[in-house]
Amino acid sequence: MIRLVLVGAAGRMGVAVTQALAGQDSIELKARVDVPQNRTDGPGVWSSDPGSVIAAGDVVIEFSSPEGARTIAGLCAARGAALISGSTGLAPGDEDAIREAARSVAVVRSANFSLGIAVLRRALRSALERLPTGWDIEIVERHHRGKVDSPSGTALALAKEAMAVRGLSESSLRQGRSGRLGTRPANEIGVHAVRGGTWVGDHEVLLAGDGEWLELRHVAQDRGAFAHGAITAARFAASAEPGLYNLEDVLKETR
Ligand code: NAD
Repeated sequence: MIRLVLVGAAGRMGVAVTQALAGQDSIELKARVDVPQNRTDGPGVWSSDPGSVIAAGDVVIEFSSPEGARTIAGLCAARGAALISGSTGLAPGDEDAIREAARSVAVVRSANFSLGIAVLRRALRSALERLPTGWDIEIVERHHRGKVDSPSGTALALAKEAMAVRGLSESSLRQGRSGRLGTRPANEIGVHAVRGGTWVGDHEVLLAGDGEWLELRHVAQDRGAFAHGAITAARFAASAEPGLYNLEDVLKETR
């Protein structure tokens, strides 16, 4: 039986994970953690002190905030609990804390736990390896009005994928355009964040050639898409060796 601790339990993703856990064999939602003012009823013990509930052998799923991701990574390493980390908008120091934790426990880190995005990343790599380098790359993402970080972690991950294939650096990223910038440089990757309404997550990669263009697009209609991916990752991490894993590692093992 996997003992699961859910951090950020009262948030949109916390609620989606709790719902997705209903009826799952061999996973017990042991504790739900969130800030005191967001206390909600639900399965498992409620706590606003993660240090009092995370124990050796637990698996922690965290969808909270950059600060939450950093704190929980340190606690998981100290207690010997595996971690599934999904918060986005992390600063380099937060990423360092996650890498450090992965030296002693299994950590699955992804800015997007949906199966479709993992496949989109692979499709993007494949398309860029086959297309002439003259094809322009633009990424457009849409999210709900409550999202606090822009562009999305997934848009940045897609841009990194493209940078790796094209041998480009971070300086190739162009986040939005305004004013007389001149014509589009060949080695630019445009990233554009649209915010509004209740969009759960929509990522479009536009590959534009001369007289033709290609669109690779993923639409998450429901947070259940991320929740199921995170639960699959939790099952993987429960028996994985210490290390830093991504969703592709999980899918390779669980197909
Ligand atoms: P939300 O604001 O609805 O919920 C976040 C919850 O975390 C809140 O209840 C908040 O009180 C709690 N929280 C924040 N910091 C905390 C801390 N230090 N300790 C305990 N609880 C804390 O946000 P959301 O839409 O559920 O998203 C949460 C995070 O997950 C965001 O960073 C979002 O971008 C990311 N996200 C990732 C994926 C993915 O697949 N990786 C998918 C959706 C959202």
